[in-house]
Amino acid sequence: MSWEEELHRVVRKYYRGGREEAPGWIAAGEVIGDPTVVSNASCGDRVTVYRRPGGGAWLEVAGCAVCKASASVANRLLAERPLDEVCTIARRVLDGIAGVGETSSHDIDTELAGLVGDELAADVRSFFSLSAVPGRRRCAELPWEAVLREADVAR
Ligand SMILES: [Zn+2]
Repeated sequence: MSWEEELHRVVRKYYRGGREEAPGWIAAGEVIGDPTVVSNASCGDRVTVYRRPGGGAWLEVAGCAVCKASASVANRLLAERPLDEVCTIARRVLDGIAGVGETSSHDIDTELAGLVGDELAADVRSFFSLSAVPGRRRCAELPWEAVLREADVAR
């Protein structure tokens, strides 16, 4: 599979369009504090992080399908796990998208499978093909950067 085909598979799997369908969706009245916004000027993607009372967060994306699919994977994790665990995963994902796994002995694939299970790890890994496509890399990175930014803000 080419990186485009692999990404389309994940986009179809995770991106359904309606925010109410997304796991972990937070209704406007349940949001606390000011949302964190990060954006990617080159593609026009914008990720807004909404914080829920008692910890945890939810990402909303205005932007391209790659960014939305990447955020959907992050949202699935945010719905199931505490923010600090998702941050650990986010750092591995960002390393993978940057291509760090190919240039070091640091085994991101094994580490990710240990953190999130085989199925989700396989879906996350499909974004790693973007390490060879600098123009679209930011699209997949943005939601994970938003998670890390939010954790800094919440601290
Ligand atoms: Zn994009």
